[in-house]
This record gives sequence, C-alpha cells and structure tokens, in this order.
Amino acid sequence: MDFNKILAEIAEETKYLQGKGKVANYIPALAQVDGNQFGMALLTADGELFEYGDSAVNFSLQSVSKVLTLTIAFREIGTVVWERVGREPSGNPFNSLIQLEKEKGIPRNPFINAGALVISDILCSALENPKEYLLDFVQKRAQNPLIKYDEVVAISEKEHGYLNVALANYMKSFGNIHNTPEQILDLYFNQCSLSMNCNDLVRVFSFIANRGFDSNNKERILSRSHSKRLSSLMLTCGMYDESGDFAFRVGMSGKSGVGGGIVATIPGKLTMAVWSPELNSFGNSLRGVMALELFTTKTGMSIF
Ligand code: GLU
Repeated sequence: MDFNKILAEIAEETKYLQGKGKVANYIPALAQVDGNQFGMALLTADGELFEYGDSAVNFSLQSVSKVLTLTIAFREIGTVVWERVGREPSGNPFNSLIQLEKEKGIPRNPFINAGALVISDILCSALENPKEYLLDFVQKRAQNPLIKYDEVVAISEKEHGYLNVALANYMKSFGNIHNTPEQILDLYFNQCSLSMNCNDLVRVFSFIANRGFDSNNKERILSRSHSKRLSSLMLTCGMYDESGDFAFRVGMSGKSGVGGGIVATIPGKLTMAVWSPELNSFGNSLRGVMALELFTTKTGMSIF
C-alpha cells in the first residue's frame, strides 16, 4: 500500500474543512495556536514511519494524555481502578458536572475530565513523583528526551480551570479523591500540557497497537488483556460525546484532545496520529476526524 500517496490525498481532500472549525479558546494559551496547521504520522507494526505536513510541529496533548495516565494506573493497581471509575460512554460533554451528582461521585469513564482526575488521584497515591514518572514514561516510549511539559499551557489552564477544580472538589466530597484537589489538579494540568508532535505520538502509542508491548524498548507495558481493554475504552469513550459517530465513520480506536490531536490504532497493524487544531462542536479535531475516516475508507483497513 502506498501510504505516502494516501496521506497526500487525504490532506488534499480535507483542505476544504480548514477555517470551518474553532481552535479551543477556553484555555487562553491554546487560543494562540495557528489553526491552519495540519500534520499526520503513521507507524506500521513493523516500524515503518510515514508522515505528512506539520508532523514535526509540537502541540498540546490535552486529553490524549488520559490514555497514558490510565495505562500507568493499570500498571500500578490493576483492576482496582474500576472501583473508582466506570467504563461506559458518558453521553455528556467531557467536563460535565451533572452526571457526577446522580452517580455519587463515580465518573462514567477515565476519559472524561472527572474520570481523568480520579486516575490522577490514583497516580498521586501510588507514585512518589507522578509528574516525573509520567514524563519519563512518555520520553522513553517516544525515545525522545526532549518531550516536556509546556509550563505556559499548564499555568494558563491552572488559572482558568474552574470547572476542573469544581469536579475535583465535588468528587472529594463523595470520598472518591484521596489526595488534596491541588495535588491531583497539578498533575492533571501538567499531563494535559505535554507537548509533542505526531511523530512522537505514534511512537508513544505504538505499544497499544502492539497489544501492550513496546517493541522500540523491548518492554511489555500492559498485558494483552489490559491492552485489549484500553483499546476498547478508546473505541467507546475516546472521542467525548462523538465516540459512537467516530466508531461508525472511522472504525479505529481513537483518543482526541482539545489541542486538536487525535491518535488512533488498529491493533496488530498500525498507529496513526493526526493534528489539526480547529475543533468541531464536540471538541474533536474537525479535519482530523475526516482525515481518519478517509484513511480507513481508502485503505479498507479498520479494526472490523
Ligand atoms: N485540559 C483540558 C481540560 O481539562 C483537557 C480537555 C480535553 O482535551 O478534552 O479541559
């Protein structure tokens, strides 16, 4: 399959969407990003990398990082995670407070903000220095020691993240947060600020496509069973309240972030990253979703 040609076609055929979405503006530092950028990277299971456009430009990982913190939580405490957070699609916006009240402080899944905050709490309890641990974990998967937290983004979000502060405090009132809200929010805002590019992203996530095994570092990250569960959660909950439509249109397990990045996998075959900062009304990259849809349509590859 000529992936270089396919990526170039996708770029051409999705150009018309440029200017039709909106860069996230509720975090002021993200509002500064030039919405016209577009990058893709594709890493096959046998290690071949294909890239297009702004694939080497760093962007803010935002919610894509929630898959990585969940991976670490799985490694640390295993299935006990499910005593603190559910695994159903939320059917609500990613930062909704309403559902939490009805469900007594147990978030629907680890990829909405409330769920990610519980995972952050688990990491704060299990690890001596979770921020450093997470950064090491990511740098090692990407084999790139230059990956960093973007302090400007982390501070910007800390200064404006009132809703996340509310979610953390609210869950604390139900006893589902064990550390202080300040501790878990500090980790959360930093994980969201992780700055990397599409090329890094496909390498970091390739262990999921390889069913839990990081073949760059020859290291098992998750058991096959945990890796299967992680991929399933990405499929059902990875794209906020657009997860069903994404599964329908694309047929890959994906996770998006409000920085405009999406990572998607076909286990056993490939990992793909797309970045285009303009978002649709669900908070997913408008051009990114269409690019992935075209990819599975053109190649006939998908998880189904
Ligand atoms: N840092 C963002 C927030 O908490 C992450 C949201 C996202 O990417 O979905 O609002």
